[in-house]
Amino acid sequence: MALKTWEEVGKYQKDVSRIITNSYNQNRISHAYIFEGPNGTKKTSTALLFAKTLLCSNPNGYNPCNECHNCKRVDNLTHPNLFYVKPKGKVIKKEQVTSLITEFSKASLEKGPRIYIIEEADKFNLYSANTLLKTMEEPGEGIYQVLITENYNSLLKTIISRAENLHFTPIDRNIIKEQLVENGIDLNIANSVSEYTVDMGSAIKIAKDFQMINVIKLVTDINKAFLEKTVSSIILFKENSDDILNSEEITDFFLTLMIFYQKDVLNFQLRRLENICFEDELDTIKSLSEKMSQKYLENNLAKMLGLKSRMKYNINSKLAFDEMLMCLERGYKYATFCSSDTI
Ligand SMILES: [Zn+2]
Repeated sequence: MALKTWEEVGKYQKDVSRIITNSYNQNRISHAYIFEGPNGTKKTSTALLFAKTLLCSNPNGYNPCNECHNCKRVDNLTHPNLFYVKPKGKVIKKEQVTSLITEFSKASLEKGPRIYIIEEADKFNLYSANTLLKTMEEPGEGIYQVLITENYNSLLKTIISRAENLHFTPIDRNIIKEQLVENGIDLNIANSVSEYTVDMGSAIKIAKDFQMINVIKLVTDINKAFLEKTVSSIILFKENSDDILNSEEITDFFLTLMIFYQKDVLNFQLRRLENICFEDELDTIKSLSEKMSQKYLENNLAKMLGLKSRMKYNINSKLAFDEMLMCLERGYKYATFCSSDTI
């Protein structure tokens, strides 16, 4: 999703938006920025808005018009004065830099500023970095660079020393939730997904993934089954276990949501309603919270978190999940508790 204004950037990255718009207003835009922060924090779309701001032929203050030929070509990455580089493979190769420099020196360039946006700038090797930096230093005026990275500490010192660093923070879960709901995603799904990831791109992907949505439904069904003597959570899981266990991503999603649900039960008991993820399941959550003491709920949660960290080590997840469900079911249905350390 392209960002159109700096106010929009401000919704996700308040400081970044403030710093850039202030610099723009004071005519003190830096010639080199490092945009650093985790995946899914809008670094690339902010860099493209920055390019549009500088290239737009009909700007409104610091905001580009998003309509003119220049704006459209930035959106399509076809503007001749915009150089967008994404490394192929593990390092930014010499050839990639050389071809960039050739492009750069072509006479076909249009008048006006030139902007380099370099993704994964930590992948520069010393040679590539020096070659590029040298070329960029020479023409000076009108040359801007935005170096993007998730690994600030791996950037070369030569790069860090000549750029202004802007830190991108993980996006607020509530904003992700709002956006998912705006995109027509069901509230239960929006809540679980925004708890699961703060990466907007993967949040949308998960929220629209049929299999992931089934996992959310299964987790709510399993928790309902803890309250009914005639339905077994273990059988419910067994019926769906092939789908869940055939991919690591889905296995992790399932366990994470089971953990969120247990947290909800605990939060309900502690009257921390604002922290509840499965908002549509309050009746079930309330009934579950009356079945177990805080101590047992905390104990269950600790064991489930322990299981989540053990999942990395190729344990038998089918067996582990069966045991987890058995312990939870016994506790909720019959108030008998597992003393074993197996879940
Ligand atoms: Zn424009």
